[in-house]
Amino acid sequence: MVVTLHESASVRAGTTGAHQPEPRPRVVILGAGFGGLSAAISLRRAPVDVTVIDRRNYHLFQPLLYQVATAGLSPAQIAMPIRRILSRQSNATVLMNRVESIDVAARCVVTTGRRIAYDYLIVATGARHTYFGNDAWADHAPGLKTIADATAIRARILSAFERAEVTEDPQLRERLLTFVVVGGGPTGVELAGAIVELARKTIVRDFRHIDASSTRVILIEAGERILPTMPPALSGKARDQLEALGVEVVLGSAVAGCDQRGVQLGDGTEIGSACVLWAAGVMASRAAKWLGAPADRTGRVKVNEHLNPPGHDEIFVIGDTAAVIDATGRPVPGVAPAAKQMGRYATRAILDQIAGRSTAPFRYRDYGNLATIGRKAAVADFGKAWLSGYAAWLVWNFAHLWFLVGFRNRLVVFLDWALAYVRNDRAVRLITGQNE
Ligand SMILES: Cc1cc2nc3c(=O)[nH]c(=O)nc-3n(C[C@H](O)[C@H](O)[C@H](O)COP(=O)(O)OP(=O)(O)OC[C@H]3O[C@@H](n4cnc5c(N)ncnc54)[C@H](O)[C@@H]3O)c2cc1C
Repeated sequence: MVVTLHESASVRAGTTGAHQPEPRPRVVILGAGFGGLSAAISLRRAPVDVTVIDRRNYHLFQPLLYQVATAGLSPAQIAMPIRRILSRQSNATVLMNRVESIDVAARCVVTTGRRIAYDYLIVATGARHTYFGNDAWADHAPGLKTIADATAIRARILSAFERAEVTEDPQLRERLLTFVVVGGGPTGVELAGAIVELARKTIVRDFRHIDASSTRVILIEAGERILPTMPPALSGKARDQLEALGVEVVLGSAVAGCDQRGVQLGDGTEIGSACVLWAAGVMASRAAKWLGAPADRTGRVKVNEHLNPPGHDEIFVIGDTAAVIDATGRPVPGVAPAAKQMGRYATRAILDQIAGRSTAPFRYRDYGNLATIGRKAAVADFGKAWLSGYAAWLVWNFAHLWFLVGFRNRLVVFLDWALAYVRNDRAVRLITGQNE
């Protein structure tokens, strides 16, 4: 049975009694990631009823997922219950539910077992990874998007060392000690740097039969440079720092195949590996299909400069699920600060519509671009200025602590990082979910 959570505005407005208070506009937000949460929080004092719907009960700080995957942090340090974040916001209701479609004509969101009516809708359901049509590769090369992905990758990495320790087959041992990361964007760079450090600095003294310092980590990028959204000089610096850590960087090579033996490159080269990780492509959520709106080739909804899909001023699509050209004519990147800015913009535009005001087009403010490579190694691009090495690494640490949601998370992550720095350790070396 499908239940409608809110009655329609006309029913609420008048027919049930002469002295009913004027109904407040209902703002429904789909997704409590960076975009959706920033929208919900910006409406905390607004005279509207806010409903936040997410399939998970927590907000996830994705930029630190790679640290969970490489045993540096535990999941609870980078996630926070959505209900707790919004617990003091009396105009906000949180529903853990999966969005299945949107009835645009009836202004209703259809979730599992419920229809939820809206006056204004903010769609912020993010993106997931894609294998460019080769979905069979997913079993052999997991991607990193959720906590479940991160703990599965952690188990895969640590299990490879454990299996290498017990095997007597030198070829299998070599394959187990070869790690391949596909995709030279920030996530691929971070994963490759963290795995090589884990092998060569942290666990090297824990094994008796293998030499973990001989571990190979190979980063494969189809383009001509890693971190392609950064200036070429910084990409070069990042590559130098990765290679200094011991990562082998292979450029201009697309992966043509991926199976239990490892990966095959377009030129026929085969790399044997028992642990291939995928950091190569993203595909937007199904929002374009739900809305019947035009999408770009990665599935993002093509919105106008006010973040509306064509013909729907009451709907805003934001964050990774929107293809946005901002007021300056630049495409807006799929990063957390852009999603947050769009969330705030959408709420401002909704309040302007309610008050009968017009809103200037969305304009993205780019405060910089950071990527970490390893201990004391990072790059930071601030437009006119850039940093590399230790200084960039300090900025990266500070920025991630600052933006992490929740005081407790900030404190425990800071303490863990400080201990890891002093002791060269990665504390969460747990293989969970297998043979338990
Ligand atoms: C591994 C990784 C590392 C990253 N590192 C960085 C970084 O260092 N810096 C940076 O700026 N950006 C980084 N990003 C990108 C950044 O995380 C995204 O740009 C940002 O999360 C986009 O915010 P969003 O609100 O659009 O989507 P998300 O934050 O992904 O939130 C989407 C929400 O929608 C919910 N949802 C999805 N589908 C449904 C459904 N059908 N029903 C109900 N709920 C649904 C999800 O559960 C989720 O909570 C990284 C991303 C990843 C995956």
